[in-house]
Amino acid sequence: MDKLGLERDIDLALHLPLRYEDETRLTPLAAAREGDLLHVEGVVREARIELRPRRQFIVKLVEALGDAPGRIELILRFVNFYPSHQKTFAPGTRLRVRGELRGGFFGREIVHPVFKTVEPGAPLARELTPVYPTSAQLPQAYLRKAVAAGLSRARLDEILPPDLLPAGLPPLRESLYLLHHPPADISLHAIQEREHPAWQRIKFEELLAQQLSQLQAQRERAKLRAPMLRGSAGGLHEKLLAALPFQLTGAQRRVAEEIATDLGRPQPMNRLLQGDVGSGKTVVAALAAAVAMDAGWQCALMAPTEILAEQHFRKLIHWLAPLGIEVAWLTGSRKGKGRAAMLEKVASGAAQLVVGTHAVIQDDVHFARLGLAVIDEQHRFGVAQRLDLRRKLALQSLEPHLLMMSATPIPRTLAMTYFADLDVSTIDELPPGRTPIVTRVFAADRREQVIARVRDEVAKGSQVYWVVPLIEESEALDLQNATETHQQLGAVLPGTQVGLLHGRMPPAEKASVMALFSGGQMSVLVATTVIEVGVDVPNASVMVIEHAERFGLAQLHQLRGRVGRGSVASVCVLLYTGPLSQTGRDRLKAMAETTDGFEIARRDLEIRGPGEFMGARQSGDALLRFADLAQDGELLQCAREIAPRLLDRHPAAAQAQIRRWLGGKLEYLKA
Ligand code: ADP
Ligand code: MG
Repeated sequence: MDKLGLERDIDLALHLPLRYEDETRLTPLAAAREGDLLHVEGVVREARIELRPRRQFIVKLVEALGDAPGRIELILRFVNFYPSHQKTFAPGTRLRVRGELRGGFFGREIVHPVFKTVEPGAPLARELTPVYPTSAQLPQAYLRKAVAAGLSRARLDEILPPDLLPAGLPPLRESLYLLHHPPADISLHAIQEREHPAWQRIKFEELLAQQLSQLQAQRERAKLRAPMLRGSAGGLHEKLLAALPFQLTGAQRRVAEEIATDLGRPQPMNRLLQGDVGSGKTVVAALAAAVAMDAGWQCALMAPTEILAEQHFRKLIHWLAPLGIEVAWLTGSRKGKGRAAMLEKVASGAAQLVVGTHAVIQDDVHFARLGLAVIDEQHRFGVAQRLDLRRKLALQSLEPHLLMMSATPIPRTLAMTYFADLDVSTIDELPPGRTPIVTRVFAADRREQVIARVRDEVAKGSQVYWVVPLIEESEALDLQNATETHQQLGAVLPGTQVGLLHGRMPPAEKASVMALFSGGQMSVLVATTVIEVGVDVPNASVMVIEHAERFGLAQLHQLRGRVGRGSVASVCVLLYTGPLSQTGRDRLKAMAETTDGFEIARRDLEIRGPGEFMGARQSGDALLRFADLAQDGELLQCAREIAPRLLDRHPAAAQAQIRRWLGGKLEYLKA
């Protein structure tokens, strides 16, 4: 129960059915069609074990509708059965069975029906039977009892003052009782599809709690103090701009401006910089860092992988070292004396900019004056890591400003709900001179052709990423796959340098492979998803992804973003192994149809729903259980309007609402 998060009575009361079973009426067999869900009463005529076409237990049931002796037969078929079945299904026994009607080897049948023995004239259920979300170890019958008990004990009084409740929504208690125990005459459609007013009420409550918690976090943040960071005229910021080998795009200039304005305020910034892969977020971060350092404060830049961190480090050193800035480098694999020396520089303030993986926030790292923290690819950091970071940063008397960057854009509705406490800047323009990536989807049996194409491209001087499948169950298998593909491509592409990159390689080896590929000596790089984020080699123009059907949309988009970074036309080949599910087909189709990260994020949300989209599974909980952002826009709007009024005028009620819905999950929502 605790695993399901059902600790308090109110948690049980809010544990609502996934669907319902209807045992309030019987289905006349005469009217039933194949595929229908039946609830049938009948008397066993005969029961026996058959050995053909395989060993199974066959029951012949004769329908009994009321008192009338029926004539229509129904077969019950059990492929798995126990000796006790013989007794339960003794001829003459009266049963009620439930299941899907099929046409089978022995006639019209139900395979493995749910069954129970009944007395003649036994009353039917007066309510629909709820089916609750559960885990394998927890039987429905047990959960039903627990929920019913929780429901009767929980305090379900109205928290909202009546004048704030949107018109047309039924009381909370009534709504919950109805959803747990729907009367027989209710519209099954309206409650299954969650359109019933009772559902509307529940979704509204949930959205309201969520909006309140966000609003509260926002107000708490407004009370915090941060250093006011302003660059000086002719300072570092302007020098960096002058030293760049390119002009900023209009969008980069605009977001840099937004960030600079935040940095100049005495409240800590909490801003997400989103922009499609390749839109040029790094330089915007560097400009923000320049402002902070100009004002005499330190900056930290964190990336989710060592490869990415190292790449940032190189780029930033290249830009900033000539301007006299000391850039330090911290990762998990950096240990011993080197690390100690680095930590010393960070603690003394000599290192003005610190770049690294999450090692930057580990316990032994102390900043002299941290003014700005930048988190690249923030969605890749786990919730726990983000919480850690907050805790760490909050140790200072002044909070640092926080800039998060992501290439996985958050759709607007999500931004409004989950990130009400977050300001968002968007780069909606790619640097000039990029040619769009063409994406092709092929079945895996055309792999040979793809290899031939790779050979041609390499001959023309292009560089190729070859991404090997992700095997979730086993890192060892991933590795085997990568190694085999590496050998195979090496064999069929003689005279071409083919490299291998995977997560288990020692950092130094990874770095040297990346250096060969970046330098252009290596033409083909076989890689696992370690190259997913941030890797930037402009000359690479071909990407092949094997078993593309195993990747999520956002991930495919990230991977594809490794090509199309230079001026040459780029191709992305998605190889899949069929048969594909509908979702699988939709995903690959979306990839072929658009290269717009926002559009892809929108479709991803459509295909998968917000819980998964947010990676909320990391926290063990989808953040919204009942409301559906795609459908419940109006309720969301209502909740957004009411939340500030409730918080201002009825603060105690607002707290009660947050506690009722979010209980112990509050921490996660702040991450
Ligand atoms: P991302 O937003 O995916 O992190 P990067 O910051 O890695 O993108 O930038 C992608 C590439 O584009 C880099 O090679 C970067 O130097 C280059 N770049 C960034 N801004 C511009 C610009 N305004 N004009 C030309 N190239 C740019
Ligand atoms: Mg990047």
